[in-house]
Amino acid sequence: MKSVLIKQFGGIENLIIGSIAKPVPKANELLVRVKAFAINRADLLQRQGKYPPPAGDSEILGLEMSGVVESAPPQSAAGFKVGDRVYGLVSGGGYGEYCTIDARNALHIPAHFTFETAAAIPEAWLTAYQAMYLVGDFQKNHTVLIHAAASGVGSALIQLAKAGGAAAIIGTAGSDEKTQWCSELGCTHTINYKNTPSFAGEVEKITQKKGVNMVFDYVGANYWNDNLKSLAMDGTMVFQGSMSGGIVKENANIANILTKRLRILGSTLRSRSIEYKQDLIQRFHKTCDPLFENGTLKPMIDKVFSVNDIQEAHRYVDSNLNKGKVVVKGFD
Ligand code: NAP
Repeated sequence: MKSVLIKQFGGIENLIIGSIAKPVPKANELLVRVKAFAINRADLLQRQGKYPPPAGDSEILGLEMSGVVESAPPQSAAGFKVGDRVYGLVSGGGYGEYCTIDARNALHIPAHFTFETAAAIPEAWLTAYQAMYLVGDFQKNHTVLIHAAASGVGSALIQLAKAGGAAAIIGTAGSDEKTQWCSELGCTHTINYKNTPSFAGEVEKITQKKGVNMVFDYVGANYWNDNLKSLAMDGTMVFQGSMSGGIVKENANIANILTKRLRILGSTLRSRSIEYKQDLIQRFHKTCDPLFENGTLKPMIDKVFSVNDIQEAHRYVDSNLNKGKVVVKGFD
């Protein structure tokens, strides 16, 4: 089959289209002909050799995809059959012409979704849902601070927080165009972090010194002190990425954790077990499907690329240009 391959770890020029063996589904897996997949920050790291797949999983890039079932186990979960439109979360393999997925981690695509829309959902929305409700303890009327708010995950968090009745949703992003977009999506306040020496100062003004109940962070080292300053008493930070690095170099002030009784929680998705993901997917499906159907929640797709332009698609995300998700159409 055809697949996007990594010639050697490094820049986008190493993404090539080549041929590899079609994956062979295990007993509980569907074989899916991929119609669309979406790009994640993790793919950029994996391309650079900085984020290897979990042991035993596909070396091919791609954490989410949608497509048509090519083969299904005789009694698969949810009764999948050949020809069904499905989408789901995989721990690798989405950039191939065909991809295998454990039937417990796949969902039927609702009639109102295209393949492109469905491919834009799993990784960003499940990450966001997990952070808010399984790892964190988001409650109605909480105030939240969402970093990289215009990212795929951020755009899902904003909408989930709004749908869940957040009292205030503060989003940070690196341009006025992005902050404007975040406001339209549901942020009650935004901060262009490039225009301020400290987002914590802005959060203090917005919350009238109370701080926020929850911080969703992917930036890491550079934001450590300001995140702790921004949290209210008994606040929670869900920490899910370290785009600025994982080592806080100086003036790391841990005193706030103590005096404000903070909870700092780490959250990952890819390395979770099939059973954990199944539970997460079912909870998400039950809660959010009706909200997608009535338009309360909307997968935000910035651009759709052809798979032949995979280098351009990675360049676009690498350059921090996307607002929401970047989707790629699968091989014809
Ligand atoms: P994305 O759509 O590629 O957006 C990432 C955005 O982050 C960039 O567009 C940029 O926006 C901002 N950014 C990049 N480097 C930054 C830096 N050094 N400081 C501040 N902002 C920076 O991202 P995504 O795929 O949705 O992922 C978002 C984050 O969630 C990533 O860190 C990813 O690794 C993480 N993630 C974690 C899990 C998990 O389970 N733990 C799962 C999925 C994703 P601006 O222009 O606003 O700076």
